Amino acid sequence: MIEYVFVPPPIPSVEIAGSDQRFPVHRIYCVGRNYADHVREMGSDVKEPPVFFTKPADAIVASGVAVPYPPRTENFHYEVELVIAVGGAGRNIPAAQALDRVFGYAVGNDLTRRDLQGNAKKKGLPWDTGKAFDRSAPIGAIRPASLGHVSQGAIWLKLNGETQQQSDIKDMIWSVPEIIAELSTLFELRAGDLIYTGTPAGVGPLKPGDRIECHIDGLQSLTNTIK
Ligand code: MN
Repeated sequence: MIEYVFVPPPIPSVEIAGSDQRFPVHRIYCVGRNYADHVREMGSDVKEPPVFFTKPADAIVASGVAVPYPPRTENFHYEVELVIAVGGAGRNIPAAQALDRVFGYAVGNDLTRRDLQGNAKKKGLPWDTGKAFDRSAPIGAIRPASLGHVSQGAIWLKLNGETQQQSDIKDMIWSVPEIIAELSTLFELRAGDLIYTGTPAGVGPLKPGDRIECHIDGLQSLTNTIK
């Protein structure tokens, strides 16, 4: 038996809708620039392909949990996104076989310190301080893919009851199979990986006391407050 110098942290895990079992998180990958209207609002070139970045697995936050306003930012943003929960390993997975690796889907919120991300972009520096901070990855319950895959349907975000983001999953530049195919050429995917698939236009700032409701048709909503 291994003796550790301190008690190892628990494995981060996500609720599975209709089940007592939980989904253990291995890694969190994210897609940037995956909706043309959001690429334009960020001032980027729509001809540039989407990009990948990561967050730590322990950045996940469940629905209903209050998220503390993070330090070192004056422009803390929401981003509603479809999340793919990966259920099988693979490298160089062809798009035609990609859906076999999907365990399920959830609604996520790619919380962002936009000012720090903007500074990093300007200077050609890594995005970690803007994207990969503590509690930056709220995620709702995972709906198993046995109940169907997600290729279309409304995606929206309401801030204090007012709609801020509204689009359709079918408007993603890279579809779910294309994201898995592309990502698996860069990293070996493993069961337990989560992939945040990008946000549509309408991102904006949060403040303490705000209530965020994230929705994708057919999935359990994700609701968090900022404290
Ligand atoms: Mn995002």
